[in-house]
Amino acid sequence: MTKKLPDHQPSNQKKKVSAVPTAKGRAMLSIIHQYGIIEKWSPEKILAGQFQKIGKLLAHASKTVPYFQALLEEHAIADPANVTPDEWRTLPLLDRQGIQAAGTNLHSTSLPPGHGRITAIHTSGTTGRPVRVLRTELSNLYWCATTLRDHLWHRRNFRGTLAVMRNAEKGKDAYPDGSKSRSWGASSNVFKTGPAVSLNLNCTPAEQVDWLRRVNPTYLMTHPTNMYRLANYCLDNGIRLESLKQTMTLSEMLRPEVRDACQAAWRVGVSDIYSGRDVGYVALQCPEHDHYHVQAEGLYLEVLDEDGNPCQPGEIGRVVVTPLDNFAMPLIRYDIGDFAEVGGPCPCGRGLLVLKRIVGRVQDMVILPGGERRWTLLSAGNIESFLAIGPIRQYQFVQKDLQIIEVRLVVDRDLTSPEKDAIRDWVTARLDHPFSVTFVFVDDIERTSSGKYRDFISEVDAPPEPLSRSEV
Ligand SMILES: [Zn+2]
Repeated sequence: MTKKLPDHQPSNQKKKVSAVPTAKGRAMLSIIHQYGIIEKWSPEKILAGQFQKIGKLLAHASKTVPYFQALLEEHAIADPANVTPDEWRTLPLLDRQGIQAAGTNLHSTSLPPGHGRITAIHTSGTTGRPVRVLRTELSNLYWCATTLRDHLWHRRNFRGTLAVMRNAEKGKDAYPDGSKSRSWGASSNVFKTGPAVSLNLNCTPAEQVDWLRRVNPTYLMTHPTNMYRLANYCLDNGIRLESLKQTMTLSEMLRPEVRDACQAAWRVGVSDIYSGRDVGYVALQCPEHDHYHVQAEGLYLEVLDEDGNPCQPGEIGRVVVTPLDNFAMPLIRYDIGDFAEVGGPCPCGRGLLVLKRIVGRVQDMVILPGGERRWTLLSAGNIESFLAIGPIRQYQFVQKDLQIIEVRLVVDRDLTSPEKDAIRDWVTARLDHPFSVTFVFVDDIERTSSGKYRDFISEVDAPPEPLSRSEV
């Protein structure tokens, strides 16, 4: 695509239903209608509805999934269809390693009618513990409906141009042209949409912005760290993306400074998506606030403390999910390796559980010489004071051992000694420990194999590999 796309700046924000939604579109609309009712229920009523679905899933798993047949027998769950929350909490967590070990014992030998064809997807994780997960046409339909729900919640204009910049295999959607689709995908089963354009983000910010100026998007979706670089590049070079109405992020933790940068560069907000290829949508950003609503109609989510007890609002714990619609390969109490803070009730009136923020993974924690693990909580603000020290383009902190923090930097020029001293002071103050700080200057900070970028990595006492966040 070398031609400039026509502008999509309709002043009319009203969404138009295409003349005849497809059969899939009608099914998606029906799900959206149910969602619209359920999201207004009280948290207690939503939980009761979830336990009805859990009962069906568990009864199915106890009859047709060898792994769970054995497990439920062992845990003496007499009546899986009427499992109580207390019984539920006795079931052990399943992690990525457990999925690998169980293999086909996690597959259902007999799918109930109505779930449709089975497909398999592979997820890689960040350091290579791939798992293969089965999905069904029904679970895919719920996935598509939730994509549509995100667009509707955030009142997007379907006639606009959606630009997606993702990490893709070499040569795919490559600069300078990228690729173009006529529609936004599944949502076009319901609404007539404008085009979607894609670019492989493995090119420079200057090239990405050159492409963005040509495709002139209404919406821009990419990884938070890439969004941050783009916004800063545009700020530094006085570039406005005139048609841009909103940005969307996925697949990494969203730092508050990304929101600030998008406002400063383009005067637009950010809407974040928390999802995983293997479990589908986990939570969507509330249309009225920066926090997230768990997609509780299709997924039961627990945030657990170190003893396995549910966290209360304000507490950070391990995220454990159970997708409720995937009967081909039930993932019951799946520990996806993320940590999140539970939020209080949302003033928007939706009863869906609130996650205040997703804080990271085990490897994102710093380890002190005494063995104590702490969140680095770089996302809690104050990264601006770090970036203000010198001409820093990209950064990454790596804990090499119990004494040394390596600061990896991409800089515009060599740092002065006072700037290095200021960085040392900032790091030791931030981590609240007198670490020895070393510097490595690089041209670029690499992403992981799945395209993610991490700002803090601990190489100490690496725990078992958890699932990477949100492989969409
Ligand atoms: Zn809300």
